[in-house]
Amino acid sequence: MPIHGLRVHGRVFARIAEFHPELTAFRRDLHANPELGFEEVYTAGRVVESLKVCGVDEIHTGIGKTGVVATIRGRGAPPGAVTLDDGAPRPRMIGLRADMDALPMTEHNDFPWRSAKAGLMHGCGHDGHTTMLVGAARYLAETRNFDGTAVLIFQPGEEGFAGAKAMIDDGLFERFPVQAVYGMHNWPAMRPGTVGINPGPMMAAADRVTIDIAGRGGHGAHAYQTVDPVLVAAHIITAVQSIVSRNVKPVDSAVISLCGLEAGDMGAMSVIPGTAKLVGTVRTFSPVVQELIERRLNELCSAIALGFGATAQVHYERMYPATINTVTEAKFAADVAQSLVGRDHVVRDLEPSMGAEDFSFMLRVKPGAYMRLGQGMDNGVGSCFLHNSRYDFNDAILPLGAALHASLVENAMPLQATVPAYADRAPSRSFIPLPRHSGPGLEAFQEPVVIANVVRQSMAPKYMDRHGLRPRDDDAGSRSVCA
Ligand SMILES: [Zn+2]
Ligand SMILES: [Zn+2]
Repeated sequence: MPIHGLRVHGRVFARIAEFHPELTAFRRDLHANPELGFEEVYTAGRVVESLKVCGVDEIHTGIGKTGVVATIRGRGAPPGAVTLDDGAPRPRMIGLRADMDALPMTEHNDFPWRSAKAGLMHGCGHDGHTTMLVGAARYLAETRNFDGTAVLIFQPGEEGFAGAKAMIDDGLFERFPVQAVYGMHNWPAMRPGTVGINPGPMMAAADRVTIDIAGRGGHGAHAYQTVDPVLVAAHIITAVQSIVSRNVKPVDSAVISLCGLEAGDMGAMSVIPGTAKLVGTVRTFSPVVQELIERRLNELCSAIALGFGATAQVHYERMYPATINTVTEAKFAADVAQSLVGRDHVVRDLEPSMGAEDFSFMLRVKPGAYMRLGQGMDNGVGSCFLHNSRYDFNDAILPLGAALHASLVENAMPLQATVPAYADRAPSRSFIPLPRHSGPGLEAFQEPVVIANVVRQSMAPKYMDRHGLRPRDDDAGSRSVCA
């Protein structure tokens, strides 16, 4: 269904959609200023600046190095109450998480908000995730239609730096003891307004495996005098593929990919090297399978090397655990999403991805759920793969993502019947300060990208032409170009 056919329900979305242009400007400014994990100084600064204007209750910086946490207290029972009417302990506290970091890659887009930093790019849409959570902050701080505390977690370093773990190690959940935590990621292969989730594994565990092979180098013409580590590497590459097909149960999922081989010198055709090195990744959902693969890699590699008179050392590094939703929270999140976009736009049995995500560290210690939010349009906008040099976050989904965050809070901690819901409309004002620096085409950043039921059309063709948002000829179908 094209985005112009999408109707998003409810006052939360309607209110947030009113400041869609500001969210768009904020997102594009972050896009133009990407920062690597644990270096998100500008990004965290912009987040803090905006949260202050939003009027959140507390802002805590420097958690997990560059992480930021904001709290917003809802209206509800008078302060000091120990339990709710239903006997549940107070305080009720719900965590929402967004990641802030970019990737070390070169952007090949040419719209005005393309990366202004060589070799750095928001190629995974974390600029959009951060913006959606800032949008939720504005709405929640303005309306406070919930009974409890919303904890907004802006985390650093998702792309391989385990920033979520850094925040947890820094006392995140001791300082903010949330009962559940929610996160979401844009998904180019799903249409805008579609939410995907399941009550179990969402993303795989990602481990790194390095295999160091040592033989004996020598002359390629007199190979019988050597122990050829390249030949050993070739046998290992082939043999490890038997682990998934012959050791892992067919009903379990796993991938082993050896993606790098380093040996010899391309300028030395007749020199057999003394060593070779393989590097790759293992993806699993279950710790039992993970354990099995690590053991079999060790057994196979050392036995194969021994058979050739060489040695092989396996270094197995567990990086991100599997991202596993808890059943109750996943169902709750799906219900909340359904209240916004309707049953037809919520996939409740989403196929897990073998990719990985460090929100897994949060889900290891707290109940919660991780969702995918579709962003790819039929005309190609937003459908370029993550981590591709032409990728961009689709601004059309900003209000929906923000509304989803805010609705999770309102529904998880509903106001008691005796407390009147917020009804006043706050005066319209710009809440996010404009960028303080000069960048490429910043004047264009505030142009609104509209979502359907506010203005019943998708991105205006004129707007798209001006900013090169229409797929180019060489982007036709965009998948192949993006891949
Ligand atoms: Zn990524
Ligand atoms: Zn990402």
